[in-house]
Amino acid sequence: MRPTGRLHLGHLVGALGNWVPLQTKYDCFYFVADWHALTSDYADTSQITAYAYDNVADWIGAGLDPEKSTFFIQSLVPEHAELYLLLSMVVPVPWLERVPTYKEQQENLKDKDLSSIGFLGYPLLQTADVAIYDAQFVPVGEDQVAHLELAREVVRRFNNVFGAGGDVLVEPQPLLTPFGRLPGLDGDKKMSKSLGNTIHLSDSPDEVKKKVMRMYTDPKRVRADIPGTVEGNPVFTYHDAFNAHTAEVEDLKARYRSGKVGDVEVKTKLANALNAHLDPIRERRAKVLANPGRLREILFDGSARARRVAVETLERVRDAVKISYK
Ligand code: AMP
Repeated sequence: MRPTGRLHLGHLVGALGNWVPLQTKYDCFYFVADWHALTSDYADTSQITAYAYDNVADWIGAGLDPEKSTFFIQSLVPEHAELYLLLSMVVPVPWLERVPTYKEQQENLKDKDLSSIGFLGYPLLQTADVAIYDAQFVPVGEDQVAHLELAREVVRRFNNVFGAGGDVLVEPQPLLTPFGRLPGLDGDKKMSKSLGNTIHLSDSPDEVKKKVMRMYTDPKRVRADIPGTVEGNPVFTYHDAFNAHTAEVEDLKARYRSGKVGDVEVKTKLANALNAHLDPIRERRAKVLANPGRLREILFDGSARARRVAVETLERVRDAVKISYK
């Protein structure tokens, strides 16, 4: 995850919530992609390290456990950069230009300079991030499938060029996140920090309530007695995602469809459900932040552990490339 802002509900349903159960099944590596934060915004780097710590407090809040998984910081494992450089030697530029997000983001984020080699090459850096741990699976949302396909192509090419008939690097497989995209508070199809339509995991109960009360809902429903649409209505998408009381949700939907409930009731119940969902996360997060020394230790120890694996992979890679001085 890139430390470019505070984490929000989209990160919870689209990533963290899915990562937590993986911890008991796999040997998981989760990292703060601080170099990736630079690929789309190098102009202001002042908050990256603060967000790194803040984000990891949210991970632990959401249930990731540094005793079960390896947490690390990308830039504390500089071998990622070396593997990226070596991969870049065998990857044609058009492979990167063809990645769908490349042109898409250049068109959508006009206020950012996305003409850099760093931005063009970020899917290749992702390939290095994954391949350096011999990762078999990467938990991704739909939006990242094209990147993983590229990673697989790059690994195949690298193995063809340098493998001498065998494999140097492992081809990673996607582990698709079941939940799709969480819409924004404004009804936009994606909750996203760049759109300013988020509820942060660190928002107070009061902030959550205020944001929910201002949420976009069915615009045709100007009075409570007009039948409303539930499908595609973000208020109900959130109810489905976060409200554990399914009977309450079904009752609200039925009354909404028949014009028998006001927005205030639907939204108050959503705010309560969200706060109930976020309370244990807030509690764990506060505990972590109360002990910054321990948080730092988690990340430094985890990075050292990750680095031991990365160093071994790079020895193998240097041998394969035949740039290995003994
Ligand atoms: P980002 O902060 O955009 O780099 O996203 C980090 C991870 O969170 C990616 O795997 C995204 O797919 C996921 N993510 C971010 N926003 C959302 C959202 N609104 N709905 C679902 N997943 C999301």
